[in-house]
Amino acid sequence: MPVPISAHRTLRAAGLLAVVLLGSAAGAASAPAATVGGLRSDPVVTVSDSFFGRSGRLRYRILRSDADPATEVEPLIQAFGEAALERPGILSVYDSSSGEPFHFVSLVPFAEKQNGRVGVYRVGRWPAEVRRPRSDAYRAPEGFIEVTEATKELHVSTHFTFGQFLTKDQHEVWPKMLLLDERLVDKLELLISELRLAGIRAEGLGVLSGFRSPQYNNRGAGGGRARDSRHTYGDAADVYVDVNGDGRMDDLNRDRKSDIRDAIWLSKLVEKVEQKYPELVGGLGVYRATGVHGPFVHVDARGERARWGFPR
Ligand SMILES: [Zn+2]
Repeated sequence: MPVPISAHRTLRAAGLLAVVLLGSAAGAASAPAATVGGLRSDPVVTVSDSFFGRSGRLRYRILRSDADPATEVEPLIQAFGEAALERPGILSVYDSSSGEPFHFVSLVPFAEKQNGRVGVYRVGRWPAEVRRPRSDAYRAPEGFIEVTEATKELHVSTHFTFGQFLTKDQHEVWPKMLLLDERLVDKLELLISELRLAGIRAEGLGVLSGFRSPQYNNRGAGGGRARDSRHTYGDAADVYVDVNGDGRMDDLNRDRKSDIRDAIWLSKLVEKVEQKYPELVGGLGVYRATGVHGPFVHVDARGERARWGFPR
């Protein structure tokens, strides 16, 4: 159920009240449709143009330790007060020029993880916790995006929500912890643009798998999942195009089959995105269908080129 949320910590603080409100909204069939992605009462802030990404369609930004005082810290302190930035959560605003909701994320510090868990949510261990990372891209994350049952509906971009990238495990456990790199979401939005240029009216992409916590990912290691997968760093997604809504990759190359050739067809558009935006370069792999899923393409934004799965 889509739920209007501004700063979700408000909801956490409001506790019982929020539960009551959500309950009544669900029960009232005649209630007006909830506005996903923010409340009209959210503060109006001028969001820096660059935060919308190369696609212009990003709607979130993570407040990292190197956040810019002028464009990230100060406007949010003015809108929410200093204490708000020190607590983990999602700070929703309205962008003054576009009138669109935009979400700043204050991370749950990585140090909150104890024995492989943040709260009760299991995430496991990153390799860099026990040995030197092979490059900056493999450092342990700075922190986690805390996602609740309500905030999972918030849009990270025009066509994607936080919820689409969550690890698909511990279904009853909330909040969940998420890693999601803005460059990945930007790249997926640009892929949608390429699809439209190719005449395919995609209103999004199916995300088979986005972030995978190490504890979840490593259970499948050896069975096609790399132990040091980019999925465990939040800059990878396995995606497919599903305009006809049958839950499986469309027949993109029009040979009346949905198979790895459609994944290869889609991968060519990812190549185009990387040619136009070299700063979003990363891994690209194609996968054939199995009994549990259709064909898909792995896309990541690791910062260096990698390719696999292509027939010779
Ligand atoms: Zn993948």
